Amino acid sequence: MSMKPDRVEASRTVDAPFIEDRGGRSGEVTGTTPGLSLDQDLEPLDADERQAMEAAARHAIAYRGRLADAPAVPQVRPAGLAGRFDAPLPAKGEEALSVIENLVAEASEGLHAHTSPRFFGYVCGGSMPVGAAADFLVTAWGQNSASSWESPSVAAIEQTVCRWCLDLLGLPPDCGVGIVTGATVANIQAIIAARDALLARQGWDVGARGLFGAPEIPVLIGAEAHSAPVAGLRYAGLGIGQALRLETDGEGRVHLAALEAALAGCNGPPLVVLQAGQINTGAFDPFAEAIPMVRERGGWVHVDGAFGLWVHAVPELRGRLAGVDAADSWAVDLHKWLNAPYDSGLCIVRDRAALVDAMTARGAYLPDLGETWEPSDSTLELSRRARGVPSYAILRHLGADGVRTMIARHCALAAYLAETLSPEPGIEILNEIASNQVAIACGNDDLTSRVLERVQTNGKVYPSHGVWRGRRIIRVSIINHATDRDDIDLLADELRTAVRQEA
Ligand SMILES: *Cc1c(COP(=O)(O)O)cnc(C)c1O
Repeated sequence: MSMKPDRVEASRTVDAPFIEDRGGRSGEVTGTTPGLSLDQDLEPLDADERQAMEAAARHAIAYRGRLADAPAVPQVRPAGLAGRFDAPLPAKGEEALSVIENLVAEASEGLHAHTSPRFFGYVCGGSMPVGAAADFLVTAWGQNSASSWESPSVAAIEQTVCRWCLDLLGLPPDCGVGIVTGATVANIQAIIAARDALLARQGWDVGARGLFGAPEIPVLIGAEAHSAPVAGLRYAGLGIGQALRLETDGEGRVHLAALEAALAGCNGPPLVVLQAGQINTGAFDPFAEAIPMVRERGGWVHVDGAFGLWVHAVPELRGRLAGVDAADSWAVDLHKWLNAPYDSGLCIVRDRAALVDAMTARGAYLPDLGETWEPSDSTLELSRRARGVPSYAILRHLGADGVRTMIARHCALAAYLAETLSPEPGIEILNEIASNQVAIACGNDDLTSRVLERVQTNGKVYPSHGVWRGRRIIRVSIINHATDRDDIDLLADELRTAVRQEA
């Protein structure tokens, strides 16, 4: 129910604010509520609101259309926004259309072109327009996607997204899948499912008894793992300090000898966290050898594959992550390489019952649907948006061929960038190109930082910073659906020019 500013105003003139009991909903409203009348004649969508929604769509389309020429950096940084949004909440409301128009005017300068084809920072997807369009609908439909009974279309669509993704990623079709907000939560959920299953194997019921007095679970994780699964260990009560960090090679891949030695020292079935797609190098752990070693010890292998798992979609490249399908669980983002809008990712668990046992929060008020796929059984939330729908739209729009060619193109462009830049004096490529990430250094740390700052300030392209093997790097992630060779040539030019100017 919306509050119309004009009507709120009008109701203030009611001089007898006592709200009478009208029978049907007796007892719900008692006493006096100054300024509120039950007689307000509210519409589900009035003219002002309709115009606001239309304006938002218009502005959204214009924003996306400008991206090709827009600066790749925000025109203001946090300090530049002082006084713009930090006013006290106004006592009186504002027309919906005016709110939207003002929001666009006030926010635009402080938006970062994360969805631009020339944004190469961190590992951010480009939010494909068809996905953004479907996301408008998700918001307008306002489905609570916890239950297939309450929201049948969403549940059916999301189930299909899961099936299509399992197929593209080469994972078993009967895995349990939770559509979560991103790889961080996917990692947490999978680690919780692993924890419960590993402790159950030792006769301990975490659900009933908690972790107090539980047997220990040996935890092994690569020294160059992403911070998300590391945090996941902490959130799951396993403690980062308890985890053994496995030594890695020059690309950040776990050494098999280190894994073997660590496994020999385990006094129970271990949780081993591997990685598909190291954030700086894009490298893959040696799954084909590592996973059977863990399996032999009765352990659980979890793979953080936030972006890298998508390489499987390309038949010519999938040998790079051979054997990954033998793991017990996987975390993967939809809002990175699939280019879905935020927030979406998948928590995938081979043993669906292990995921559901760990995540379900069914209360007595939800119908018992037995074997029916219930979205809320596989995620931490009950109420949530229909966040799988944009990915469904993207997958339908791209088709399997479109996904394959997009991933293949990004990998080829990463190799092309490395080839283009490596002969340049003053530029070093620090990684083997395993997927879509390129780690660049320029002589020394100071120079690398100055080159990056110059390129970012120029605003034509946006790579970001990182630290790799003790050196500062310029990190390039090629992941936007619209990035093509011209964008990479521009990036190479910008880096080359900045190196000459700073050296
Ligand atoms: C991005 C990323 C994460 C975290 O994913 P979010 O989508 O940011 O929650 C975890 N692991 C790796 C390797 C990543 O690249």
